[in-house]
Amino acid sequence: MIWAVMVFICFVISIPFKFSNDLTAYPGPLLTDIPIELPYLEPLDNAPAEMPRFPIYDLHSHTLASDGMLTPTQLVQRAVEMRVSVLAITDHDTTAGLAEAADAISRLALPLRLINGVEISTAWEGFDIHILGLGIDPQSSAMVALLADQAIRRQKRAEEIARRLEKNQVPDALAGAKAFAGDAGITRAHFARYLVEIGKASNMAQVFKKYLAKGKTGYVPPQWCTIKEAVDAIHLAGGQAALAHPSRYDLSPKWLRRLIVNFKQDSGDAIEVAQCQQAPDERTQLARYAEEYQLLASQGSDFHGPCAWLELGRRLSLPDKVIPVWQDWFK
Ligand SMILES: [Zn+2]
Ligand SMILES: [Zn+2]
Repeated sequence: MIWAVMVFICFVISIPFKFSNDLTAYPGPLLTDIPIELPYLEPLDNAPAEMPRFPIYDLHSHTLASDGMLTPTQLVQRAVEMRVSVLAITDHDTTAGLAEAADAISRLALPLRLINGVEISTAWEGFDIHILGLGIDPQSSAMVALLADQAIRRQKRAEEIARRLEKNQVPDALAGAKAFAGDAGITRAHFARYLVEIGKASNMAQVFKKYLAKGKTGYVPPQWCTIKEAVDAIHLAGGQAALAHPSRYDLSPKWLRRLIVNFKQDSGDAIEVAQCQQAPDERTQLARYAEEYQLLASQGSDFHGPCAWLELGRRLSLPDKVIPVWQDWFK
């Protein structure tokens, strides 16, 4: 009997560890930017209302120009509704949404500063690493050239993903993803939405797990530009380079440090320290890295469209010790 009681107690004690291990292991929207449900944070509806005490900066968001759900006009309107004061639009490898956003802000006289941005996919050690360009000139010839190359790589990758999926009983994958992408370049999120639509999986997270993650049928190793090429193009375009969502690459602490060191050596400027969805202590740890490697700190929601778990401007603030990437803006 005593043994039975002890076993029961051990089991009960181990539950939180099992749970937290699962949470740590959960990759989140790994290597992509899809707003999928992360189980470790409560839905926003249950969160206490936040009254901003200072301007809210949201320096990471997407529109229909890449794999976001809203038009640039809808996005800037929503940002104002969410009391965001400074918004960077950072579509994947494109600046196509920026002009409409700027036009909407001036036409509708919205109280919002727009930061011209981009999120560049890079290949590093077999990982798909995202680099944000903040405050770029979208007309810069270096940026235009880099993004043209990226568009070709993206199309080739989409064709290869589709070929692999079709070999594995997923019909019309390219056309299906293209229908979701519209005029935008095809991302893995578009394939994922198509796979959910045709019933191959019940949600986006499951699609990645079953088809698109490393080692799965539809996985194609990234062929993007290097981190250095991305950082250089961002600098030539007058912007700052920030390492996006450092905790979402499924890297061990050792490998994450390697990535940050590499990014710093390649003249990267900042790392994204605050996101609206983060595991406990993640923000503090990323702030420590920013301090240790003398990088500026950025923050952003990575908003792609309305969902229960993620919102423009929500829960975005930086720990005191770091230097915000925007410290010299607007001076
Ligand atoms: Zn990203
Ligand atoms: Zn993103």
